[in-house]
Amino acid sequence: MQSTMMRFPLTLDHILERAGKLFGKSEIVSRLPDRTLHRYAYNDFHRRARALAGALQRLGLKRGDRVATLMWNHYAHLEAYFAVPCAGGVLHTLNLRLHPDDIAYIANHAGDRFLIVDDILLPLYDKFRDRARFEQVIVVSLSREKVAERAGSLPSSGTPTAGRADYEALISDAAPFTPPALDENDAAGMCYTSGTTGKPKGVVYSHRSIVLHSLATATVDYMGVAHADAVCPVVPMFHVNAWGIPFTAVMMGSKLVFPGPHLDAESLLDLYQSEQVTLTAGVPTIWMSILQALEKAPARWRLAPGMRMVVGGAAASETMIRAFDKFGLRVTHGWGMTETSPVGTVNYLKRELGGRSAEEQYVTRAKQGMPLPFFEVRAMGGEAEVPWDGMTMGELQVRGPWVAAGYHDLDQEADKWTADGWFRTGDIVTIDAAGYVKITDRIKDLVKSGGEWISSIDLENALASHPRVAEAAVIAVPHPKWGERPLAVVVLKAGDAATEEELRDHLATKFAKFWLPDGIVFVNEIPRTSTGKMMKAVLRERYRDWRKRDEE
Ligand code: ADP
Repeated sequence: MQSTMMRFPLTLDHILERAGKLFGKSEIVSRLPDRTLHRYAYNDFHRRARALAGALQRLGLKRGDRVATLMWNHYAHLEAYFAVPCAGGVLHTLNLRLHPDDIAYIANHAGDRFLIVDDILLPLYDKFRDRARFEQVIVVSLSREKVAERAGSLPSSGTPTAGRADYEALISDAAPFTPPALDENDAAGMCYTSGTTGKPKGVVYSHRSIVLHSLATATVDYMGVAHADAVCPVVPMFHVNAWGIPFTAVMMGSKLVFPGPHLDAESLLDLYQSEQVTLTAGVPTIWMSILQALEKAPARWRLAPGMRMVVGGAAASETMIRAFDKFGLRVTHGWGMTETSPVGTVNYLKRELGGRSAEEQYVTRAKQGMPLPFFEVRAMGGEAEVPWDGMTMGELQVRGPWVAAGYHDLDQEADKWTADGWFRTGDIVTIDAAGYVKITDRIKDLVKSGGEWISSIDLENALASHPRVAEAAVIAVPHPKWGERPLAVVVLKAGDAATEEELRDHLATKFAKFWLPDGIVFVNEIPRTSTGKMMKAVLRERYRDWRKRDEE
């Protein structure tokens, strides 16, 4: 029997039009390069996004054409987020923190036809423009200098360059937008993985996958994006669609607050205060610097009480969650990856855990959380699922309507999917009886000592809970007898001192003896990728020949 319900497409034009009709007065605030705040309302956003869509059509955008962006988080990027897919194109956000060679590779591999770029990022574009194949480059004048002057000052590389247009001029004399009939399975957006494991791989999101991800993440227990919220995505819009927040917030008509290029702790705290931000999101490195600023000057900022901070991309430690609680700020821990749009699990306390002690609740809150509705998880040890006992480790495999089923134009990665259709995340996890997923490692970062797995993340979090430790990375170093042993690489807080013995004693209270690192080396800095992840491969290479002193 067929249902009697409408087949209504899940497409992004609905979210844009809804925003224009219902939320015209909601505000969008963006910090510009000169630190001033640009303000306008959804009315303007809606009109300008449609104008950009019309302009792209006039420039010859066809269904499925890729439009790249090289932009910070601000109003114009939000306009592109909606204009490109609503015009039938595919929004491809380029990660401006990557090496120019990688950006060129990614843009060419994706087949990008157009580029929208912030004027302040033109010097970066110049570093790869002779290798990129854009037909048209649209420049957003954020720094309020005339684009023509800037363009005129650019050195000529001798190769034919793309035509250049001014974003504002393009919008102001755009032809009326003729919305195409979109199919919910049409490509709408595209992101490349950060490439910590080999060449960057392209994931292509559909209208449907973005809409369902928005509906699921907006729910109260997960990100809980409400109309009344002032939402500030610190996670860049070039990093897995800023975890979907621009789509979710516009769907709800929330106030949006964009930090532009100013991501230092003080600028962010100033913005949180002036705009009374209630929901923000980013990677742990951002929150570490925010925490340090708050601890240094606790009375300096008056933030919205109970501001929620979604933390993901790398593990949020229990120490961090506790520290923010002291300031009345609530850390919400989540997990995801480019291939999962990205949000897959988010932490909230289940009803049955409400009566547990504060200690136990913190242990649970530091886990990566519960799977979203329609997002299924399993942990595999070889061919069999491992029990949900909170102890047995297995590889996290996932499936759902916003999980990638393949990569763009790349066949040799087929082993990332199991024969029965699950995506192999490469993360090692435990799942407990209540369903909380806890990431213990990346497969490639695991320490396997004498046949037993040691969780580097558990050791790192325990080290980070020491009052004088700023951050720690635990890596595997080769060992003649055990195969591998853990080595801790530790950064101490500025001006603090600690000995190896002290830190070992600190760990000894929490872990079995064989888990304790063979050594602890102190460094000034842990190398990180453009998306805030520790570059353990670099550390493994650096300490490849490291030996315990008494074994030399
Ligand atoms: P993203 O760009 O979303 O960071 P990537 O695909 O580059 O996605 O990286 C995803 C990986 O980041 C995950 O497979 C996992 O190893 C790590 N990760 C993400 N969130 C967390 C978290 N909360 N705790 C620990 N690791 C995380």
